[in-house]
Order: sequence, then C-alpha cells, then structure tokens
Amino acid sequence: MPELPEVETVRRGLAPVMEGARIMRVEARRPDLRQPLPRDFAKRLEGQTVTGIGRRAKYLTADLASGDVLLMHLGMSGSFRVSHKPHAGEGREEAPGKFHHARPAADAHDHVVFHMSSGATVTFNDPRRFGLMLIVPRRDFASHPLMREVGPEPLGNAFDASLLSAACRNKKTSLKAALLDQTVVAGLGNIYACEALHRAQLSPKRGASTIATRTGAPNAKAVALVDAIKAVLNDAIKAGGSSLRDHRQTDGELGYFQHHFRVYDREGEPCVTPGCRGKVKRIVQNGRSTFFCPVCQK
Ligand SMILES: [Zn+2]
Repeated sequence: MPELPEVETVRRGLAPVMEGARIMRVEARRPDLRQPLPRDFAKRLEGQTVTGIGRRAKYLTADLASGDVLLMHLGMSGSFRVSHKPHAGEGREEAPGKFHHARPAADAHDHVVFHMSSGATVTFNDPRRFGLMLIVPRRDFASHPLMREVGPEPLGNAFDASLLSAACRNKKTSLKAALLDQTVVAGLGNIYACEALHRAQLSPKRGASTIATRTGAPNAKAVALVDAIKAVLNDAIKAGGSSLRDHRQTDGELGYFQHHFRVYDREGEPCVTPGCRGKVKRIVQNGRSTFFCPVCQK
C-alpha cells in the first residue's frame, strides 16, 4: 500500500498537468471502486478548472473552481498514468510514483480517465479496486468522516515533539502501534514507521507513553523520533522526486524507494547503524510485520 511519500510523489507528478487546467471530459468506465463513484461523477467534474492538487494524509485532493474537492485514495493497487497528446508524432507516458509492491498495470484496470485541457490524459488504474474517488464540498472537507479524525501532517510545522508526546502520553499500546494510529500522526504506514524507529534507535516494542515525561512533556526520545519521522519521509520524497525526473528523461523504470530502506524487508541482514553488529529481526505486532534491530534500538 502506498504511504505518504509515494502519495506525495504522485501529487507532484499530477500537479503540472492538472493545476490550472480544465477537466474537459471524464470517462468513468465502471460505476464503483471501493465505493460507488458519486452520483453525476463526470457531470460534476467536466468543465471545471482544477485550482490545486493537494494531499492530506494518504489522500490526494483536486480543488475545483466549483468549490468541490475531488478526494482520491490509491487503495492497495491504484496508480495514475499521465499521457501527453502526441506533438509532432511524439507521444510519451509516465507514471508518477512507483511503489514497493508495484504490479503491472493492464488496460483492463483503467477505471477512470480525465481528459485535461492541457492535452494530457490522466488515467487511474486499479486492479484490486480498493481505491476511492469522492466529491466533497470544500466547506465540508475538514468535517468529512474520512478527514475529521486524521491527525497532524508529519511534515507540517505543527507536528513537533510536544504534539507527539501529548498524543502518546496516555496510550497503552506499543510505540510502533501509536505511529500507525492515524489520529496520532497522519499518513505514516508500516514501512516508514519501522524506518523512523530505527533512525531514532527506539524499540518498536517500547510503550508509546515512554516518550513523554510524567507531566506529558516530550523527552529526548520524542525529539529524536519526530526528527527521524521528518527525515525519513523527506528522504523518501526526495528519492521519489528524483525517480520522477529520471523517468521523464529516460522513459525507463522509476526508482524503487526500498533501495533506501534500512530495516524494512531486511530480515536477517546486518544492521546499518555504524558500529552496530545486530541483525534485522522481524516480529509481528498488531498483525503487521515489524522490522527492527534488537541491538541498537532500545
Ligand atoms: Zn543495530
């Protein structure tokens, strides 16, 4: 499942062809994804200028001149493909954001196609159909059931050690589980939770409340963890961004973020922390695999 950096990479891939452009025509090739598409889906989008492409947690948003927001989620297997109309006989196609568990995209799974006034077509492909497209008035966006519980953006200025320790202070769960709780921090998934804990040298098994003092103030662990979360996400976005640029130049495969993983999917391999002789271990927490170094993560 794509995590925040992948979704942000997709956002950055869609923005240049969608922002400021008008949606001329929408092909909805089936009536539903995870949920039915909104009533009058194509009609509410066609003719609308896209005023901005944004992201909230793992959701993509397209703000429309009508005041509506097209809210999109990639689900398990969704991806976008951008095709530019051939100019002088040259066509090109690119897929912003390549995910760890990427799978080939067959045309049969092209479910929604946006024809833009820029000449680009933006195609949503989703073999497993866990993706989502909804239309929500902008004024109702923050209170929408999918949005109202979502915690702070990890890369936002508001997200700091005080906020994280306050959110974890009364939690009885493990620290790893707290990081996956979307009300604590938005958009962090299994991969980057593992990676952030390794960078901060904190055990995924420690209690979430141990990053707060008795009064709820942040301790050094909270500070290290927030720094690690921001760093790991920024690095991954940077890797995605560079893979986007490479792709445009070479028309080849996009880079895979897992090249940068320090613990995720590296069970039994040596820990990369300088001076550490530990081996990456895999355990299961709340039904999800956790990868960590039992030697340097305490
Ligand atoms: Zn280690």
